[in-house]
Amino acid sequence: MTDIKSMNLTELTAYLTDNGFEKFRAKQVLQWIKQDASSFDDMTNIPKKLRDFLKAEAYLACADIVRAQHSKIDDTVKYLFRLYDGEYVEGVLMSYHHGRTICISSQVGCKMGCTFCATGMSGFSRSLTASEMVAQIRSAELDCKERISNVVLMGMGEPFDNYDNVIRFLRLVSSEDSLNIGMRHITVSTCGIVPRIYDFADLQLQTGLSISLHAPDDEARSRTMPVNKRYPVAELMKAARYYVDKTNRRITFEYALIDGENDSDENARKLASLLKGLLCHVNLIPVNNVTGAGYKKSSIKRQHAFADILSGYGVNATVRRTLGSDIDASCGQLKRNFTKGDV
Ligand code: SAH
Ligand code: SF4
Repeated sequence: MTDIKSMNLTELTAYLTDNGFEKFRAKQVLQWIKQDASSFDDMTNIPKKLRDFLKAEAYLACADIVRAQHSKIDDTVKYLFRLYDGEYVEGVLMSYHHGRTICISSQVGCKMGCTFCATGMSGFSRSLTASEMVAQIRSAELDCKERISNVVLMGMGEPFDNYDNVIRFLRLVSSEDSLNIGMRHITVSTCGIVPRIYDFADLQLQTGLSISLHAPDDEARSRTMPVNKRYPVAELMKAARYYVDKTNRRITFEYALIDGENDSDENARKLASLLKGLLCHVNLIPVNNVTGAGYKKSSIKRQHAFADILSGYGVNATVRRTLGSDIDASCGQLKRNFTKGDV
């Protein structure tokens, strides 16, 4: 079956004309997609022959909301989306003073197996198409009745393990034929698939890049992030420096503070020396214990001491405020609970 919602106008035109339909039909079909048509039968101004062809040959990707959990302490909403084949992914809608931001998933599950991550612990099923990433945003927009202005690919999955679809998504969602969300309003987060960081840098998109670092040396990083055995810290930092040189863009490093694991003064000093002189920002996140691995958040005092050491070395760092903490608004948790039948 052909995923026509992942196509741009040129591709859709080629697809329809190759199958004997008029060129202008592509614009009509795109218009229906833009108006959230959920079936080909909704497309009333296209001939029945074309509708029948599409019904037989193509499908309209979706991300239907099956559960929305509203935080009682802030405006955060956590969504569970159902995809056309019955798989589930999740997304989190957040409200900031500058507008609505959605965190979307790029894969059903993840192969990377980070020990602190609920998604990583629940295995991998498949990658998402570009249209399924767009559909998560659009479903949330229709639900909250507001335009979503910012997108982060920080939900389930490793975006750079689904590189081609993610790049297609970025091009699609930023186009006028789709949601017209500018690339500079989108951030991609990776656990550090080094070759793809080089590829991404070479594309020179306006999109932001986050790297999940979580430890300043190979020994500690390999303990929690198996990907580090394949792409160790030195190689990752080389790629990060290449990215900054090539794009002149600042990188954000994500660092989840885990009590007694990666939060000592020495860890902070090592991290500072790793990042010294690099155009970057460090996001310190108190870890969420979701995997049963017994991880505990660092104390608030430790979080700030860690940040102060980084700042003392001239490395930009902030302790991130956690939104939606009452609704499990963190990577992989809602789906995990849902499939266990708890919610
Ligand atoms: N796979 C990508 C993007 C999805 S994960 C990546 O790893 O970057 C989004 C972010 O949530 C990553 O920075 C990830 O390391 C972080 N994360 C995962 N589990 C977490 C937890 N239990 N506590 C805090 N942050 C977590
Ligand atoms: Fe995958 Fe990211 Fe979770 Fe690691 S943190 S398992 S890369 S989703």
